[in-house]
Amino acid sequence: MQSSDALFARALQLIPGGVNSPVRAFRSVGGAPFFVKAARGATLITADDRELIDFVCTWGPAIHGHNHPVIKAAIAAALENGTSFGTPNPYEVEMAELIVKFVPSIQKVRMCNSGTEATMSAIRLARGFTRRDKIIKFAGCYHGHSDSLLIKAGSGALTHGHPDSAGVPAAFARETIVLPYNDTAALAAAFAAHPGQIACVILEAYCGNVGVILPDAGYLAAGRAVTAQHGALLIFDEVMTGFRIAKGGVQEREHIVPDLTCLGKIIGGGLPVGAFGGRADIMDYLAPLGPVYQAGTLSGNPLALAAGIAGLRLLEELNPYARLDALGRQLRDAVLAAARAKGLPTQVPQCGSMFSIFFTATPVRDYTTALTGDAKLFARFFHACLARGVYLAPSAYEAGFLSTAHEGPAIDRACEIMSQAIAEL
Ligand SMILES: *Cc1c(COP(=O)(O)O)cnc(C)c1O
Repeated sequence: MQSSDALFARALQLIPGGVNSPVRAFRSVGGAPFFVKAARGATLITADDRELIDFVCTWGPAIHGHNHPVIKAAIAAALENGTSFGTPNPYEVEMAELIVKFVPSIQKVRMCNSGTEATMSAIRLARGFTRRDKIIKFAGCYHGHSDSLLIKAGSGALTHGHPDSAGVPAAFARETIVLPYNDTAALAAAFAAHPGQIACVILEAYCGNVGVILPDAGYLAAGRAVTAQHGALLIFDEVMTGFRIAKGGVQEREHIVPDLTCLGKIIGGGLPVGAFGGRADIMDYLAPLGPVYQAGTLSGNPLALAAGIAGLRLLEELNPYARLDALGRQLRDAVLAAARAKGLPTQVPQCGSMFSIFFTATPVRDYTTALTGDAKLFARFFHACLARGVYLAPSAYEAGFLSTAHEGPAIDRACEIMSQAIAEL
């Protein structure tokens, strides 16, 4: 196997920036990315034969750790019968039953192949259903890379110094109203300013794409009330939080029922899957029943759904959420203790198996306060951790993730390493 550096040199000749998703390029922390040849449990094994304790977890999906034997066996069993049929298949019904059972707002669901497809399709459905064009999103919330949603979209775009992507027509951007998160008054004012024009409000109910930001008490309920009052749909983008914060996502934990919900990441068990679902009367606006078109050659793919179903059944069986929260608190407490010893003002917002580390004295509650985090210091911290064998997301504006595989020696070792890294900053 070639070294990471040799592979990256080849990749740079052939792939823009050498990567197939921008944050992987390490541009905001500096240096060159490592290549991974294998992963198991909480560990990545690089092309250079280094073992790293992984807090990226393939950007969220790997809640059971990498290459879990049960998921691997489910894929192998499905593979015996073929890789894609292009017809309805039994896995689709089983997956729909699981999603409807666990996610409170979902009565009907449509499978697709990524989180981006899920949010893009949910927005089209909301516009078709309400016959309105404008949408509201929040600064720092990332909903995938479709045109209407790639505006003030958090981590990836932010990391590269382009909060708004080139190539999005101004006419599209005009239909997207961007508001500060955790600001109920701004939301009410936007509805007052655009009466009868707003199709939907889409949000990450717990933000994870500008680091972790949790909603103030009452904020989500206020969003539910104002959308209902104005006949707009409330869309929870739970691509990251679905089956991670709880089996039913943030909506289960916060007791808020959105009209539509987007899923991805964990529901694919490490293979490419997305889904969106919600109220049956809205979902029935989709083709072939209704006028809103949405489709996919590989949607409902048997291998991907076999992996996803195995992962969800494992969550049902293990119910690991209290254990995951204990891991999250252990990590948060270790980082905060090391930062306090060093006299370094630090925020570690954490909920269950999601956390992030902001080097700032300012409590982080929206995009503006997230940007007060010291990104240069974060880059040094990132490299100090990596040199010692801990891999955090290579950006100051990403969430970290824990899996059940971090329990035991991995979390203890990682806390020790992160504390040392902070001590030496
Ligand atoms: C990851 C993510 C997406 C996009 O999903 P992809 O599968 O990368 O297209 C959308 N919304 C949220 C909240 C995400 O975290």
